Amino acid sequence: MKSDVLDEIAHILQEEAITPPLFELQNVSVDYKLSTTAFRALHNVSLQGYPRETLGIVGESGCGKSTLAKTLLCLQPPTQGKVLFRGQDLHQLKANSLRQKRKEMQMIFQDPDASLNPRMTVYEHIVEPLMIHGLFDKPQVLKLLDMVQLPAQVQDKYPYQLSGGQKQRVSIARALSVMPKLIVCDEPLSALDVSVSTQIIQLLQELQAENNLAYLFITHDLASLRLLAHRIAVFYLGNLVEEAPTEMLYRTPLHPYTQGLMSAVAIPDPEKERRRSRVVITGEIPSVLAPPTGCPFHTRCPMAREECRRIKPQLLEIKPKHYVACHLYKN
Ligand code: SF4
Repeated sequence: MKSDVLDEIAHILQEEAITPPLFELQNVSVDYKLSTTAFRALHNVSLQGYPRETLGIVGESGCGKSTLAKTLLCLQPPTQGKVLFRGQDLHQLKANSLRQKRKEMQMIFQDPDASLNPRMTVYEHIVEPLMIHGLFDKPQVLKLLDMVQLPAQVQDKYPYQLSGGQKQRVSIARALSVMPKLIVCDEPLSALDVSVSTQIIQLLQELQAENNLAYLFITHDLASLRLLAHRIAVFYLGNLVEEAPTEMLYRTPLHPYTQGLMSAVAIPDPEKERRRSRVVITGEIPSVLAPPTGCPFHTRCPMAREECRRIKPQLLEIKPKHYVACHLYKN
């Protein structure tokens, strides 16, 4: 293994040894009921996030990313399993305690236009969560604007008077206003152009370092995740199929689905781009209403074999801190 990957593992092991998880999903499954049928959106997922860490969640539409976020934020109860935040089972808390915990977990949405109210000024957007949690303090608004690198004058503006990047900065200021420990970022860069995305990534990194924040960063954009995430969890059809420290995952993706996702990311060096081998994923994602038997990825996997159609692979630790659910890697 390369020395920077070893350093990455050593750092994670050291952090985990001294710091308990900030949040933890323990064998969480989530079922949704429709009028005539039901389906499982998350399958027995176990995952931890640590303070000051960015955990990236990646996968195609329908992979369970949003259900995971909603379950963690207590907007969706798990059908099975537990969701712990700072050691407490969130879904067992009484309303008052849950309200206190919610203050510590905020969210930034994909589309700032949809998450900001067109009839409210920037000032009103930032003040609202402070009021809800009894923390209103006028100078705090200017401090928050400064933290997200917006000038004080924008406080009187309405969302339509702001650029896409400025709107996302207002969303970040709003999330930061109650001094959370965790921010769930749901595709926050997908509505922005590349240069603005780069600025927002830099801002999120600075805010994390200054405020000891943890992020759960949901995206389908593996290129930006490499800049931000310390660890990445790959989901397919509601199943956690691979989890590893970021550099390890980019250099040695093990699951054929992850290899396919990585193959779709362009390498800036034309020579390396020309020489690399690719795993091409073909076919459509199966419907969650009729998931495949055995390995959920077998209908699209170029390495599928007979047992893959019958037996669902378990998530196993194949190398230190590198977990994969695939029959190709059995201990
Ligand atoms: Fe492919 Fe089989 Fe591995 Fe599933 S278990 S990813 S079908 S090789």
